[in-house]
Amino acid sequence: MAEYDYDLFTIGAGSGGVRASRVSAAHGAKVAVAEEYRVGGTCVIRGCVPKKMLVYGAHFAEDLEDCQKFGWTVENPTFDWVKLRDNVLGDVDRLNGLYKDTLENHGVEIIHQRARITGDHEITLADGTAITARHILIATGARPHVPQCPGNEYGITSNEAFHLDKLPERILIAGGGYIANEFAGIFNELGTHVTIVNRSDTLLRQYDEQVRDRLLQISMMKGIDFKFHAEFKEIEKTDAGCLRVSMTNHDDIEVDCVMFATGRVPNTEGLGLEQVGVELGDKGEVKVDRFSKTSVDYIYAVGDVTDRIQLTPVAIREGQAFADTVFGNEPTSVSYDHVPSAVFSHPPIAAVGMTEGEARNSLGTVKVYTSDFRPMKNVVAGRNERGLYKLVCDGENGRIVGVHMIGPDAPEIMQAAAVAVKAGLTKQDFDNTVAIHPTMAEELVLMR
Ligand code: FAD
Repeated sequence: MAEYDYDLFTIGAGSGGVRASRVSAAHGAKVAVAEEYRVGGTCVIRGCVPKKMLVYGAHFAEDLEDCQKFGWTVENPTFDWVKLRDNVLGDVDRLNGLYKDTLENHGVEIIHQRARITGDHEITLADGTAITARHILIATGARPHVPQCPGNEYGITSNEAFHLDKLPERILIAGGGYIANEFAGIFNELGTHVTIVNRSDTLLRQYDEQVRDRLLQISMMKGIDFKFHAEFKEIEKTDAGCLRVSMTNHDDIEVDCVMFATGRVPNTEGLGLEQVGVELGDKGEVKVDRFSKTSVDYIYAVGDVTDRIQLTPVAIREGQAFADTVFGNEPTSVSYDHVPSAVFSHPPIAAVGMTEGEARNSLGTVKVYTSDFRPMKNVVAGRNERGLYKLVCDGENGRIVGVHMIGPDAPEIMQAAAVAVKAGLTKQDFDNTVAIHPTMAEELVLMR
């Protein structure tokens, strides 16, 4: 008789949990995964994927304006939010189905319930069923953090933004990270008046200063308002059904919707982790070693719940590495160097490696090359919006240690540049590469 019900019990069927479960099953393990909401997790259901679709949908507003200079006349274009929303949610349903199929085709049992750890090697489901497993994987992700203030229950988070019945005329978005800036871009393009409210005066802290300043300047030009050094005091519902927001250092403002994009907290509450001795960090994140093992020998954790780098491709790699290590007989750890990332703002930002500031703090000498240009399409369209590319190089040997970009399609271009940076290529290697003309990407090999 088997000692345990399963070889692996995964809690959470998001990016990390799905990959880990599927690959562990392919390695021969008997696997079950519990999911309390929808298979696919944040990225597929209420994160990267529907967000990117809304970004595409919103950007048509600029294309419809710009196309006129290219000779097109589009009379009285109108926009239907419910149509966009429902088409996006329809595709989310399709992807949700594909994720379920993938798991089932690999023999992974999906349990549509909340699960928590209740004893040594023991998990209990919401309906009270107790299950045992040789290994447990925590892949429960993170949830939006909502700051404490009277009336915060009137606000929404990114979770609800995908389901709005109608577009608000005025929205206040709290936060300065990528989710705040992406949704600010989406709503602004769709005609909502957007105010970003942030505790400090720094947006997108981990990105290069010149690039984030460029986004701020362009966002303001597009009509987004910013209120910095502002802490919420209160949110009140007015008789007219609007929300009046009072904050430090600024006058009250009235809006139709408040959206909190003020960080994400690891989902560890109520999981029973303390009971079995799993160590947590200051933010409640599960502490793990480089093989994603927790302080308890048979319990592992991957993805946002560990708060290493909260991105889908990182969670997927951690899930894969876990499965290869524990069930594939191939100890594998994930490299966190040179992880590229993007902000799907209008225009988007993309980056890999060190910012200029980081390089100056950690290297002896640094050489920086920049290209500040107006994309050809913007010139014809009469759109006064400049792109900025930046290469940060180690002054000793010319190795490119960081690439930072803002401009149309920057994330698409960055994926290839990230390969070069990861491979340790130098500025000379970029110079030796012939440009593809005419493109924006050619700026990368033409900087002098
Ligand atoms: P998740 O995908 O969050 O999965 C965790 C799952 O666990 C959830 O489905 C949850 O319901 C389930 N769960 C939690 N507790 C329990 C329990 N006790 N029992 C059963 N089930 C449980 N990343 C990018 O790389 N690119 C992007 O463009 C991007 N955009 C984003 C936009 C938004 C608005 C948000 C919110 C996130 C975005 N991310 C993006 C981040 C990305 O979604 C996450 O990094 C990724 O989903 C993390 O995967 P995960 O497996 O750790 O957790």
